[in-house]
Amino acid sequence: GIGHRVVHGGDKYTDSVVVTDKVIEDIIRFSDYAPLHNPAHAVCIKAFKEVLPNTPMTVVFDTAFHQTMSKDRYLYATPYEWYEKYQVRKYGAHGTSHRYVSKKVSEELGRDDLKIIVCHLGNGSSITAVKDGKCVDTSMGFTPLAGVVMGTRSGDIDVSLVPYVMEKEGKSVGEILEILNKKSGFLGISQLSSDSRDIEDAIKEGNEQAALAQKMFVNSVVKYISQYYVEMGGCDVLAFTAGIGENSISTREEIVEQLACLGIKLDLEANNVRGELTRISSSDSNTLVYLVPTNEELMIAMDTLALIK
Ligand code: AMP
Repeated sequence: GIGHRVVHGGDKYTDSVVVTDKVIEDIIRFSDYAPLHNPAHAVCIKAFKEVLPNTPMTVVFDTAFHQTMSKDRYLYATPYEWYEKYQVRKYGAHGTSHRYVSKKVSEELGRDDLKIIVCHLGNGSSITAVKDGKCVDTSMGFTPLAGVVMGTRSGDIDVSLVPYVMEKEGKSVGEILEILNKKSGFLGISQLSSDSRDIEDAIKEGNEQAALAQKMFVNSVVKYISQYYVEMGGCDVLAFTAGIGENSISTREEIVEQLACLGIKLDLEANNVRGELTRISSSDSNTLVYLVPTNEELMIAMDTLALIK
């Protein structure tokens, strides 16, 4: 079998599916939401179909896991007709990773009835609240530009600054969006790099812009964790994953330090780890904290196997 990761499945696909002509048609139809990715996915699927016509194929949508959000969580408070006419709503992203990590935590603890906050912190970052194995809320929005501060993406902003800067700089909407997606976040604030390793090195050398970028990133992650803590009525497990979440010892420490008022505490010795499934909370922490390496490829392979069987 062949499993394809597809960025956007709109509000139609709540799970992975076997590829049919209709599925390919839908992937093309949802290109409006992911113009860089969905058309390329369709080309790729068709190419595989031509070369290996007898091999079953599946698609695993990155939006599917978030389809369990309730309407009061996924809607924006914009005119309701925008949702009815154009499906303007929050879709979220990184769903395959959030599903894998929350599933792994459940397996590890042998329990399905858990409230888990998954922090996928990489070049792109998103936070998801998962209750009883289902996504309750997530930080990315209509597109992956929303949510926390990222490598090159701004995360949440007041949209009014778009026309303001357009006028000041004589730029088009497209140009401003490009800057918000590719020249903001760590890169925009540090004026140095989008890579958290460079930011960490620069902080050690006393670079104040790098320290500011890191602080803004940590603040934004803490904001979502605390929001989801209340939204779910508590949290059993806080899980860190992806490039920064799995590897940056200091970032995990800075984030959890700010959660002390919720009784969440790290075991600093246990936290001195990279890329291994590890419990890193202290024995007196109210919430378990885990480092869980993500594995989207395995999730896609498992879905594919289950579907083609
Ligand atoms: P991802 O998008 O999941 O591949 O994550 C990329 C991000 O992870 C980049 O900002 C990297 O700097 C960061 N990262 C990878 N390895 C490390 C490390 N050893 N220490 C700190 N950050 C790391």
